[in-house]
Amino acid sequence: ATPLSIAAGVQAAAKRGIVVVAETLFEDAPDVDVVVLDKTGTLTTGSMSVEEVVVETPDGSTGDDSAGEVLARAGAVESLSEHPIGAAIATEAAEAVAAVADEADGTDSTAEGKFAGELAVDVEGFERDRRGVSGVVAGERVAVGHPEWCHERGLTVPEELESRITDAERRGEVPVAVGWDGRVRGVIVVGDAPRERWLEAVDTLADGRDVVVLTGDEGASADRFRAVDGIDQVFAGVPPEAKAETVRRLQARGTVAMVGDGSNDAPALAAADVGIAMGSATTLATDAADAVVLGDDLTAVAETFDVASGTNSRIR
Ligand code: ADP
Ligand code: MG
Repeated sequence: ATPLSIAAGVQAAAKRGIVVVAETLFEDAPDVDVVVLDKTGTLTTGSMSVEEVVVETPDGSTGDDSAGEVLARAGAVESLSEHPIGAAIATEAAEAVAAVADEADGTDSTAEGKFAGELAVDVEGFERDRRGVSGVVAGERVAVGHPEWCHERGLTVPEELESRITDAERRGEVPVAVGWDGRVRGVIVVGDAPRERWLEAVDTLADGRDVVVLTGDEGASADRFRAVDGIDQVFAGVPPEAKAETVRRLQARGTVAMVGDGSNDAPALAAADVGIAMGSATTLATDAADAVVLGDDLTAVAETFDVASGTNSRIR
């Protein structure tokens, strides 16, 4: 095929839903040796949903009321986060409130209704970290995030919940700890599914390149990608702040492309020779990228390399 000029390359990319942010894309993408795929929101849809709310039940009670409180408090804080996990929790909490309101039909008598009916409470002092969020809800600073992160913040994780966390991880789900006043009160189990046509995308990307998956998660949700044809390596348990460093280390193998979505991927996208952000990307990640893939089809990422290869960046 005749090489395209840069302008034609930009246009060809646009037709496939790829926005070229930096023209250096055309020089660097054809030389990529290693493609790093972020897991959550990139390899997976990132549109997670709540599967279960688990609370401690020391007295053998059902724990229903405390589950409602855990969900309501977590939902209030997460309504301010922009993370896919946060969106799932905020949505579930809002739905629970609506259900309680329907049931009670204006009367607010149950213990669950008393709290969950007040989901719209103000959250004060909202703080976002890379592994979780926190804010003051009804007088308590509530932390919602990775169980280890909650533990590091001084919240005790009850043994019973510890085993539920391990179970969820084994099943490939994401356990989110919710705690306040020194103790993790519950675990919200969130699930996520790989994107449609992801296998096709991996297959294409693996043609002549190493494919590496990078994730902050551990256990089965990371392990399920190890056995996949075309995926050479899975780096699990990589905290967001270490993603850029991992990209830099991989550069010893050659030219590295990073594909990511979340705002916490921005440093890794910037560190890579080629940064590609998925359409759901937050503004921060988009700014750090050389190209943005609109829509949610991962095969467009593979096409980004095709378009770049067909473009002669040396034509003026
Ligand atoms: P990945 O590396 O798979 O893309 P992230 O880096 O976005 O995942 O997040 C890593 C982990 O940090 C999540 O699996 C979750 O445990 C925790 N986390 C981050 N942000 C939030 C949040 N807003 N609410 C709850 N947990 C969070
Ligand atoms: Mg992510």
